[in-house]
Amino acid sequence: MAAEHIRQWRVGDVDIARIVEVSGFEDDISMLLPDATPQYVQQFGWLAPHFATPDGRMIISFQCFVLRSKGRTAMIDTCIGNDRKREFDVFCNLQSTFLEDLRSAGFPAEQVTDVLCTHLHFDHVGWNTRLVDGKWVPTFPQARYLFGRREWQHWTHLRDTGGYHHMDHLQDSIDPILAAGLEEFIDADFRLTDEVSLIATPGHTPGHVSVLIESRGEQAVITGDLMHNPIQIAVPATEARFDMDKSQAARTRCDFVQRFCNTGTLVIGSHFPEPTAGVIVPDGQAWRLEI
Ligand SMILES: [Zn+2]
Repeated sequence: MAAEHIRQWRVGDVDIARIVEVSGFEDDISMLLPDATPQYVQQFGWLAPHFATPDGRMIISFQCFVLRSKGRTAMIDTCIGNDRKREFDVFCNLQSTFLEDLRSAGFPAEQVTDVLCTHLHFDHVGWNTRLVDGKWVPTFPQARYLFGRREWQHWTHLRDTGGYHHMDHLQDSIDPILAAGLEEFIDADFRLTDEVSLIATPGHTPGHVSVLIESRGEQAVITGDLMHNPIQIAVPATEARFDMDKSQAARTRCDFVQRFCNTGTLVIGSHFPEPTAGVIVPDGQAWRLEI
């Protein structure tokens, strides 16, 4: 059990917990924003020390969220997962304390009723399954697994046509769910409860969604990968490397920042390192995340 992996929020009557799997991952900003330099990062002084290093490297985390609303317990994404073979060494054969962390946060796997994936990249679907006696089995056997219909069509098309994306994760993280018959395909108008709904935020992937939580006059939104680091709140129109449709993703980010600026909505970033959440406020001609 690792207490620093867990952070909890309460939004109205909804309990939300963050479970970190890989924290404090530093990289050159050019990995995310191809033309950006460390000096470019440093001009946004508010990013350090949480979201950027003093010398202008970006920091991201790999994590997911779990929430409780009106008797339902829902995973929002499921990280990378243990025992995987992946494209990059850093994600291969993880042996994290994820399931123990989930339990100590108050959300044991056997009580999860819903697993909702914002999109189907490997770092958002991994703990859909776990390896037991050499076989991939659903980690949350009581749950229905909610996959975006549009998103799934996109990935099946890529698989059928030999698309460029690395797709090993479909075999170990999605196919076993389908084999167990636990999947349900949803559209962006899906509501988990009257407190939890989706926002279509396409661009990073075609069927990408964010998760909106509204309860007793309070609001929070879990971004998914419409952005990876809070620097993208300052420059939402700048195209980013990880987005499949870069101009669509930039439009989605601009809409998102304008929609939530000055609303008091807690913006919970799917890759934002500790403290992971804040509110969007104006910053001269731009915006920033106030923590
Ligand atoms: Zn991601």
